[in-house]
Amino acid sequence: MIMTELDELGLKNVGKVFHNLSYDELIKHELDNGECSLTKKGATAVDTGIFTGRSPKDKYFVERDPSNKYIAWGDVNQKVSADVFNELLVVAKEQLSNKDLYVTDVFCGSSAASKKSVRFISEIAWQSHFVKNMFIRPTDSELEVFKSDFVVLNACKTVDKDYKKHGLNSEVFVLFDIENNMAIIGGTWYGGEMKKGIFSMMNYWLPLEGKLSMHCSANVGKDGDTALFFGLSGTGKTTLSTDPHRALIGDDEHGWDDHGVFNFEGGCYAKVINLDAKSEPEIYGAIKKNALLENVVMYGDGEVDYEDSSKTENTRVSYPIEHIENHKEDLMAGHPKNIIFLTADAFGVLPPVSKLTKEQAMYYFLSGYTAKVAGTERGITEPVATFSACFGEAFLPLHPTVYADLLGKKIDKHNVDVYLVNTGWTGGGYGVGKRMSIKDTRTCINTILDGTINNSEFRVTKTFKLNVPNTLGDIKPDVLFPREAWENKEAFDKTRDNLAQMFIDNYKKYQDDEHTDYAPYGPIVE
Ligand code: ATP
Ligand code: MN
Repeated sequence: MIMTELDELGLKNVGKVFHNLSYDELIKHELDNGECSLTKKGATAVDTGIFTGRSPKDKYFVERDPSNKYIAWGDVNQKVSADVFNELLVVAKEQLSNKDLYVTDVFCGSSAASKKSVRFISEIAWQSHFVKNMFIRPTDSELEVFKSDFVVLNACKTVDKDYKKHGLNSEVFVLFDIENNMAIIGGTWYGGEMKKGIFSMMNYWLPLEGKLSMHCSANVGKDGDTALFFGLSGTGKTTLSTDPHRALIGDDEHGWDDHGVFNFEGGCYAKVINLDAKSEPEIYGAIKKNALLENVVMYGDGEVDYEDSSKTENTRVSYPIEHIENHKEDLMAGHPKNIIFLTADAFGVLPPVSKLTKEQAMYYFLSGYTAKVAGTERGITEPVATFSACFGEAFLPLHPTVYADLLGKKIDKHNVDVYLVNTGWTGGGYGVGKRMSIKDTRTCINTILDGTINNSEFRVTKTFKLNVPNTLGDIKPDVLFPREAWENKEAFDKTRDNLAQMFIDNYKKYQDDEHTDYAPYGPIVE
């Protein structure tokens, strides 16, 4: 049966097919193939090869109708012709022919109405393990009748030698053919391409059915109050949604339809750089058998050194969501009560928490701000601002306003409160201040979720016009109001105004005749 299906796909003379292996079988293959070692706690540790992160510049969609008219073409969504795709499809099929293959069938989307069946085909056992961890694992009876909606041919061991002739960016290719429900990957082994690739497809399919798709984590309290945490990479979606007092729905990708919120995935993908058992005990504890560590440094005795970033800063672990004891079994919950926008402001300007009006929420959603600290080479210590619409522009095939409009309607309909939480720098900008403590961030979040933040009096900040509580738990006043912590007030005002100007400049692209202009609700430099 599977042989016939692979043959129909054009994969010829396939050797053995390792179809939907169990965890034990996969780990045995990874060991036998020399792909992994086992940690003391029984987790599997692999190196992902040359690439330890995604290659966004190598991602393309095939230009075809009807997707052609929906996709927001540009730097994020680059075009590739059907001819080039077909050429590389041949390259990918040749790579995967005459081989033993790992075939992994999974679901994306816990809601029956939105669920997609995805088949991943690759030569590498750990990639099969990765997608088994990250996506929703079908039951045995579901596997018996599995029919894929979308197929990913991961031919990572081959490259596009003719990329210049093809007009592509490099030898790496990550190509999506929406009409033919297929993606092909070459040149990069990184598993995140498969995870975020299918996320991009969900972000294409769902809004066209009137459902919102979101780059956010989600959890739910004992009273059934759902919270969403939007944010770009490194802002705390995974860290903060993993909360012993609230059931985890998911740590990265969700949909929101007329029934409520649902996870796309069946696992989590946590950063492990400097992972500290005390401040993140649930994630630490999840790294056991079946968890898959990437690019961590391990000693001969199986002890892992989470502090070592010599392979990459982006060390990760994927684990099935069951490894978090307090998770929501059906991976769904009702409409959100609170939405939190996470940002890691390395300029040290934004307050740790502010309550947004609906209009401010739309402004900050479209802006999608966070800041990264540039590499320390050549003594650069200036943070770099990133604006990525909807906190995930890299994964959005449609125009950001499509997602923003859907979110705005839902916020109104379900009366959702929206907050901006800065998990970035406090006590000064990068180089002077330090990262906000997870403890203070958790205080902000806990008081939002139990509603006690509303007992505080709020005061409006200058320029950004953000509503900030005057007092909140045991958080120090100079943490709540960053200006108070800066010794040099003039320097603060200048940094704040510079950041405000970056927001203003970035927002200009959303000011047109068709959409409500939310710029008046953003920062205003006086
Ligand atoms: P991605 O989209 O890449 O998965 P993410 O939004 O899930 O990113 P996390 O994986 O939660 O981000 O990363 C946040 C990182 O920052 C973690 O390594 C965490 O330990 C660290 N951190 C330090 N201080 C804080 C804080 N105050 N709040 C949240 N995370 C913090
Ligand atoms: Mn995450």
